[in-house]
Amino acid sequence: MTMTQQHDDAFLADWAVHSRFGAVPGTNGVDRQAATAADGEQRAWFAQLLEQHGFTVERDAAGNQFGLLELVPGAPYVLTGSHLDSQPTAGRFDGAFGVMASAHACFRVADELRTDPSAARCNLAVVNWFNEEGSRFKPSMMGSSVFTGKMPLETALATTDPNGVTVAAALDALGERGDGGVFGGDTGREVASYAEIHVQQGRSMEEDGVTIGLVNATWAAHKFEFTVTGAQAHSGSTLMSDRRDALLGAARLVVAARELVDEFAPGALHTACGELNVYPNSPVVVASQVQLLLDLRSPSADVIRAAHASLQRTIERVQREDRVEITVTAEHSWDQNPYPESGVELAREVADELGLAHDRVMTVAGHDSTNMKDSVPTVMLFVPSVAGISHSLDEFTEEADLVAGVNHLTGVVRRLAAGALLD
Ligand SMILES: [Zn+2]
Repeated sequence: MTMTQQHDDAFLADWAVHSRFGAVPGTNGVDRQAATAADGEQRAWFAQLLEQHGFTVERDAAGNQFGLLELVPGAPYVLTGSHLDSQPTAGRFDGAFGVMASAHACFRVADELRTDPSAARCNLAVVNWFNEEGSRFKPSMMGSSVFTGKMPLETALATTDPNGVTVAAALDALGERGDGGVFGGDTGREVASYAEIHVQQGRSMEEDGVTIGLVNATWAAHKFEFTVTGAQAHSGSTLMSDRRDALLGAARLVVAARELVDEFAPGALHTACGELNVYPNSPVVVASQVQLLLDLRSPSADVIRAAHASLQRTIERVQREDRVEITVTAEHSWDQNPYPESGVELAREVADELGLAHDRVMTVAGHDSTNMKDSVPTVMLFVPSVAGISHSLDEFTEEADLVAGVNHLTGVVRRLAAGALLD
């Protein structure tokens, strides 16, 4: 058996175990939302895996989980990872593939550098970012937002789930909240560079026969939480002309979000309403309040701005005609944003070296690397998703593509550890 086969088999063996945590019976998918029992069980298993390979495991105060290997005392770290948490009833690939690929890439490079320490300029660290999905605790990308200073730690820890449980309490229940930082401050550790691999969550790579996506930019996004307020009333006896139906107002926004897309060129805008909370949501009651999440996404910031303006006109009309009040209760946005060209070029060189079909692709979804790339030199990679299915139990990526992705990421980590992108 060749070394490469041994490496591939070792990855696939751990990959098979990892998918058991939060597995949804009768499906190939998982339900492993942030800081749930399933997330905690997987974190404990992942910590053991890292320790078996000689890494030290630490958590920071925001619940990010790190595996650290110091090869060059005092040198900065190559950080690589993604997230193990999932949406409710989602696929087993998503961020989990990135974390497992990162761990195995670091295991391989660590073995090489233990044999020949002269090639090492950086230390190695694997990260499992806390709450990338934002399903149980909003917003998404929470752990990496705190890590990069984009969200105050206190704000993250005080965030509650729909049952009123705070992030701090949920992490404490699992023993997954650290005391302070793992990097920066007085820890004496710095991040030199960051690499992340993820499944594409789109189908262009599969259609174009591309194995490795060199992510060169992220789409802009603007996410809103609206509260639509009307008046609670009897759904039978109240005169139609007297009603102030919050659910009707929310329904008009759901439809408006879809119709907004047709105001722009095909493919220029994606919109969705992913969540509705209706109060009191009872059979004989006109709803008095609805919370609704609405996302606008586009490769163009101009399109997002124009879509936002058009949505605002719809909101004014719905408020007037349906006599409801619509307010923005939370917003989260990021601009169309390039990844550093030096990282794209490094990833291209590795793909060429390995003979893997590659192309530049934009990411529509946000990733933890969206935060990291603003702080340190960053490489973002994709492997294909079959039919582009994502955030679904039916998500799938071929085994050959997973293995190619781990091998590619290993090449990237090897170069970063040797000091690529440092100067
Ligand atoms: Zn993800």
